Amino acid sequence: MKVLVLNCGSSSLKYQLMDMADKAVQAKGLVERIGIPGSQLTHRRGEEKRVVEQELPSHREAIALVLETLVDRAFGVISSLGEIGAVGHRVVHGGEKFASSVLINASVMAALAECVELAPLHNPPNIMGIEACQKLMPGVPQVAVFDTAFHQTMPPYAYIYGLPYELYEKYKIRKYGFHGTSHKYVSIRAAEILGKPMSETRLITCHLGNGASIAAVKGGKSLETSMGFTPLEGLMMGTRSGDLDPAIVSFIMEKEKLNAEEANEFLNKKCGVLGVSGVSSDFRDIEEAAAAGNFRAQLALDIFAHDVKKYVGAYAAVLDGADAIVFTAGLGENSPEMRQAVAGGLSYLGVAIDPEKNNVRGKEVDISMDGSSCRVLVIPTNEELMIARDTVEIVSAS
Ligand code: ADP
Repeated sequence: MKVLVLNCGSSSLKYQLMDMADKAVQAKGLVERIGIPGSQLTHRRGEEKRVVEQELPSHREAIALVLETLVDRAFGVISSLGEIGAVGHRVVHGGEKFASSVLINASVMAALAECVELAPLHNPPNIMGIEACQKLMPGVPQVAVFDTAFHQTMPPYAYIYGLPYELYEKYKIRKYGFHGTSHKYVSIRAAEILGKPMSETRLITCHLGNGASIAAVKGGKSLETSMGFTPLEGLMMGTRSGDLDPAIVSFIMEKEKLNAEEANEFLNKKCGVLGVSGVSSDFRDIEEAAAAGNFRAQLALDIFAHDVKKYVGAYAAVLDGADAIVFTAGLGENSPEMRQAVAGGLSYLGVAIDPEKNNVRGKEVDISMDGSSCRVLVIPTNEELMIARDTVEIVSAS
């Protein structure tokens, strides 16, 4: 079956067409500036690239252009849309309603609308993408794959905050966790690499990208994760503050004269390594600036590594030890320096990194010293493959 995987953001959209017979990516691309003047699509087929500049007022026009390009005689990869067996949508927030991926129907759409309150920036474009596909590809099954679903196995003592319980009952304020598709994918791969049944593995999965989160995964189930009610909690990230004394928020609002929306925007967009370093939110720029002697850039890197190390230690406690620590996403896959800074002081856990094996970028490698009891794995994440797999499984079973 050929599966179209869609990840719709507020003004952008990523897509991949996968042939699940051999898991090959037939084409992929990115549409940017949807609803903003200067929209464009960048379509890739193997090494070939095609850029189409065309005004795209909404996700519907954007998806129509993607479909047109997929069947284009010169640049396409399929002869008709009939070849697409299903569409898999990344949906950010499934609340407590979805603990796994689901075939989309009218009642699922109603439940997704109810989750908008929990993810006002992310869920509306996800819903727009689904509605556009329903119009443009009637009859083609659509599956929703949630960022939150994998973490629905957390026990209540991990997801309830120290707030009056009524706030959980009234507003569903609790820890949800995100990046679930990535944590699940690397957990499955890690068990395969370790040669252990998933049911016997204890893993600490570190998704370190522009957004970053860590999960404690036991027997294939998430027991704890660092992001919370929203993706703002946990590690300091590219532009997000991560954990703070909550009293700082009202203090900043008063001092800087920010309203609630502005404070939220500030904590999500202006903080993290960007705010600390004053250089950039991109770890490559920060590593470069730190190497050139920039004190604040080095401080940002030190805080980040310290944060990751603290969470790894906490999750080793949650799991009663760990069989492996997994590094994934942009920074986790590509920065030997950050991996060394995190794992360098974890000998008490049985971690020992081999510096030569650690000198790797973007490849699946066990970077531990031979014989070390807690393995350290680099596993490039593949959320699209995970979405496509879930989609095939659900469509085949329905
Ligand atoms: P997201 O999907 O959350 O936008 P990614 O997983 O693509 O993020 O990760 C982006 C981050 O990974 C950026 O901060 C980038 O600097 C970092 N990154 C990518 N490649 C490297 C590299 N070679 N060295 C250090 N950091 C890298």
